[in-house]
Amino acid sequence: MIVVFLGPPGVGKGTQCQRIATEQGWGVISTGEILRQAMQAGTPLGNSVRQYLDTGRLVPDEPVFELVEQRLSSVVCRDGCILDGFPRTVQQARMFDELLAKTGRSIDATICFCADDTELRRRLLQRATKEGRSDDTPATIAERLEVYRDQTAPLIRYYRDAKCLYEVDGMGTPDQVHQLIKNVLRSVGEREPV
Ligand code: AMP
Repeated sequence: MIVVFLGPPGVGKGTQCQRIATEQGWGVISTGEILRQAMQAGTPLGNSVRQYLDTGRLVPDEPVFELVEQRLSSVVCRDGCILDGFPRTVQQARMFDELLAKTGRSIDATICFCADDTELRRRLLQRATKEGRSDDTPATIAERLEVYRDQTAPLIRYYRDAKCLYEVDGMGTPDQVHQLIKNVLRSVGEREPV
């Protein structure tokens, strides 16, 4: 099963996808997390993307696709995979569909998380104090929310048209949101997408 987690920064995609993946025995492809690890390790990839992450802009497609392709073909993603933070643009979504089609696969469900901007800012600033992520500063948060609105939110329509979009309210407690995701996954193939 291939599931995409779509939603603004701070909505809780990362936490939720780890929990679901562990329960289901699936792999996770979190492009932001992989890029941050590469930065911390000081690899050539990490050094080349630092400027983008530190300013909240999107990294060019090429390195992102390279790592998605690599991870997707690894054994951890054999039974299923959740993509967190990818695709990020309609162009990436189209390219990803093409990549999957090469091996006869397609996205089974895109789960779109919604939450209001004030709550997102509050959560991101709280995370900044806890985790010290270099891109959780007020200026970068504003930029990332804007990039989401301009470049990523159009994916909602893209996946709705593709008839694989399911919506989940991201404003609840982590346990409530987790339950909503499980309900969606259980109903994939039975319930009509939105
Ligand atoms: P995230 O952890 O998903 O919020 O991502 C953190 C940062 O990593 C983003 O602000 C981008 O700079 C970069 N990034 C993550 N995923 C992608 C992607 N699919 N395409 C381009 N840049 C990405």
